[in-house]
Amino acid sequence: MRMESPPSKDEIICDTDGAIRDLIAGVQASDRGALGRAITLVESTKHRSQATQLLQALLPHTGKAHRVGITGVPGVGKSTFIETLGVQLVELGHRVAVVAVDPSSPRSGGSILADKTRMSRLATNDRAFIRPVATGSTLGGVGHSTRETILLLEAAGYDIVIVETVGVGQSETLVAAMVDTFLVLMLAGAGDEIQGIKRGVLELADLVAVNKADGDNVAPANLAAAQYRRAIEILAPPSPHWRVPVVTCSSLQGLTEIWQLVQQHHEVQIASGQHQKRRNQQQLGWLQDMVKERLLAAVAADSSLATRIAELELAVEVGELHPTVAVELLFETKI
Ligand code: GDP
Repeated sequence: MRMESPPSKDEIICDTDGAIRDLIAGVQASDRGALGRAITLVESTKHRSQATQLLQALLPHTGKAHRVGITGVPGVGKSTFIETLGVQLVELGHRVAVVAVDPSSPRSGGSILADKTRMSRLATNDRAFIRPVATGSTLGGVGHSTRETILLLEAAGYDIVIVETVGVGQSETLVAAMVDTFLVLMLAGAGDEIQGIKRGVLELADLVAVNKADGDNVAPANLAAAQYRRAIEILAPPSPHWRVPVVTCSSLQGLTEIWQLVQQHHEVQIASGQHQKRRNQQQLGWLQDMVKERLLAAVAADSSLATRIAELELAVEVGELHPTVAVELLFETKI
């Protein structure tokens, strides 16, 4: 089976303009090896100028895919769901890329793909491409490389890009901010249905599906769906033109209805202008995130400023200074 594991960083050999040109042509020709190397390049923090050159050349060929985010707790059935859906979409003539984001794992690849049998049917399909996002130490870094990876996949001609993430921490907020349709998978009978953590993720959802609605689990799944429906009703809708559907599904029995809803959401968003509005907002958010990252990096690189911050932190920690006074002192001296 084929799983697109990231090439090691020393495999990036694009230190010349010619090599970058080859990489650009390779991505556009949908060459899997070139695409893999291009993703590794944008993930690398050491080759920003080459990565920018690559992205700038490919930008005119990006933006056309339907970007779909999928989240849910471990075990909810994400990989089974994506495999079933992906195979279904490939059969319909689509080209499907899956990006798996797991910021809970510090290692490249992440635990999300630890089990190499995940999505094996989809992974061996020529019209599909599956790639874990190399997870750095910061969620900001993950966001950055995932967004750029989506652009590369679009330039390579994938018309559906699925971004999968485990429903832990802030990763779902991050993924919701880079997709057109955000799908939340839930389970029936997983304790108290409307817990705080789930409420947070429900606010991001464009579509909620209670998975594993098969066999003895049909009735509990319907009950859970009714509960989620009530919870959704009291939340502000993500768009004035869309009421978030709550449905049940079984990844083992086919996902035709779910895909129809995902498509319907996309069509409604495009027709109402919300699609472009959302993408514009996402671009703005991306810029703001990058500016923050650069500012923090600049601060960290300024040793006298870093020393001053460390002194003030210590003074606050031992109770000598109040935080509001410390921050005033910091900015008085520096700016
Ligand atoms: P993930 O951790 O969210 O990616 O979950 P997996 O896709 O690995 O699924 C976890 C387990 O649930 C596996 O044993 C799957 O076979 C099973 N599973 C996934 N979807 C369904 C479903 O729709 N119905 C049933 N009965 N089992 C499912």
